[in-house]
Amino acid sequence: MPTLSNPSEIARETLRQLATRRMSPSPENYRALYHEIAGTSADSAAPFPQRELKALLTSLPNEQPAQQRLFKRFAQAFKGESWEELKRGLGELFAQLGKEQDLPWSELFADFLRQWESKQTGLTVARKREALERVLSGGAGNSELLFARLQGLVRSWSRNEPGADEMPLVEAAKAAPAPPAAAANDAAAAKVLAAGAEAAELSTELRETFAYTLEVLFPSQLLDEPELMADAKALAHKVRTATSRAAMEGLQASIKRFAFRLEILSEDRAELRAGLLKLLQLLIENVGELVVEDRWLSGQIEIVRDIVAGPLSIRSIGDAESRLKEVIFKQGQLKHSLNEARESLKQMLAGFVDHLAEFADSTSDYHDKIEICADRISNAEDIAELEDVLAEVIRETQIIQLNAQRSRDELRSAKQSVEEAEKRIGELQSELDKASTLVRHDQLTGALNRRGLEEAFGKETARAQRRKSTLCVALLDIDNFKKLNDSLGHDAGDAALIHLTTVIRETMRPQDTVARFGGEEFIILLPDTPLEDAQTAIIRLQRELTRRIFLHNNNRQLITFSAGLTDFRPDDTQASVSKRADEAMFAAKQAGKNRVTIG
Ligand code: GH3
Ligand code: MG
Ligand code: MG
Repeated sequence: MPTLSNPSEIARETLRQLATRRMSPSPENYRALYHEIAGTSADSAAPFPQRELKALLTSLPNEQPAQQRLFKRFAQAFKGESWEELKRGLGELFAQLGKEQDLPWSELFADFLRQWESKQTGLTVARKREALERVLSGGAGNSELLFARLQGLVRSWSRNEPGADEMPLVEAAKAAPAPPAAAANDAAAAKVLAAGAEAAELSTELRETFAYTLEVLFPSQLLDEPELMADAKALAHKVRTATSRAAMEGLQASIKRFAFRLEILSEDRAELRAGLLKLLQLLIENVGELVVEDRWLSGQIEIVRDIVAGPLSIRSIGDAESRLKEVIFKQGQLKHSLNEARESLKQMLAGFVDHLAEFADSTSDYHDKIEICADRISNAEDIAELEDVLAEVIRETQIIQLNAQRSRDELRSAKQSVEEAEKRIGELQSELDKASTLVRHDQLTGALNRRGLEEAFGKETARAQRRKSTLCVALLDIDNFKKLNDSLGHDAGDAALIHLTTVIRETMRPQDTVARFGGEEFIILLPDTPLEDAQTAIIRLQRELTRRIFLHNNNRQLITFSAGLTDFRPDDTQASVSKRADEAMFAAKQAGKNRVTIG
């Protein structure tokens, strides 16, 4: 075929050949035939596939800084429609991949594990974790740098240099091993492959060990914490399945949350232990005092037995401690007054018995003597003899008179002793009444009194601040209580107060505190409770009160209350938060009673 040079001739000849060769007139066939006839190469004239390559590029990951750099590089190459530029970019990418393969990660991990597990002076696990986090964030997106920094860290640990993990990036890069020459020979390539496989295996083993720790070791320590136990098991599952970076990040966040909850739990356990010890000490210190009366001792032991039988909590122990203090205090006072009264009574009785005996003796003696005198008078011969007898009668009568007087004086002083003992008991009783303000529980309902509330409030606010959790305060006031008192009597009113306290205790959670704030007003502290949940809890209490109706002489009596609810805020004091709750309670009364208002 003659070589044509004119494009229109080539085109005409191309169409002719297409028909002759019975080829379908597709653009591809036309292009191939055209170049055949023109004697040119089809490849060199192919258009640069910018659109297709761009579509391909946008489907690749573009999150890490290194990926973004490459993306920019290729975008530039497409813009300039440069195969050369693309070739160079791809070449670099492959070289980079090769280098990463060559880094001896598995050895580094082995070293890292060894150093992590061994003890270095001045290096706690927390410090190591902190240093590791710094290295990880500093080397993100650049595996060579990460390798170098991690290696630097491991070396510093092995040399026991706590601060060495903070070495500058440049030095860290210098400390990195020069990557071995590209895997030119087979032995080196095999070594790299083996190292990679070992690293993968090690990572799977580590993952499994960690999952086992979470799934088996943690739950054995969390038998009384079902929620945390479930969390540990769920985390174990996450550890096994977290193979992507995103999943790993999610896992890290979950582990941090879990660790925080564990920290709080161990704090609680330490507090619990300290509380138990204090309780025990209190009991032991008082055994010596109380052993005088078995009854007192058994009462104390019963309280402790009750606590141990129920589910242990810091609050129940604190409650037991304060109750025990009250019992000890009251018993100390009563024992004193009872002993004193008993002693005076004993003395008085002994005195009486002695006197009666003496008096009886002396009077019978007198009678005998007077009889003899009477005989002598009737037989008297002269007046002189009578004078002697008379003198004897007067003497004996004076003696008996003196005896009678002494008895009367002694009786009078005994009477005075009784009166004094009575007075002392009266004084002790009033001292005891005054001292009951030192007691933390209300005598009628058993709820905390104001003093007890003050203590509980201090503890709860400190705990809430430490944990950054919400503490809610509810103030309850019984509706129309005066009417109930007036119609059914004061005793019925008292019984109604006891009934309400019982329903509150049995409806609210064990960690909630109930205190009698005043006559028919109560305060409930709800720790770790958002306002909305606290409102739901108080409404549930109102419902429960209508369900568990108060019975008086077999008459059903509905008790309702109005409540003001608020949360403890950073600048609050007990007075300010109580005032806000009181105002909210007042608003609930104004709005028609038997409701909860938030203040
Ligand atoms: P409101 O619905 O507005 O609260 O009316 P109320 O009648 O409940 O309120 P008020 O404050 O007028 O009356 C409270 C009554 O509570 C007055 C007092 O006699 C009675 N009270 C206070 N302490 C005790 C107590 O220890 N026992 C008994 N039985 N009654 C008490
Ligand atoms: Mg009131
Ligand atoms: Mg009232």
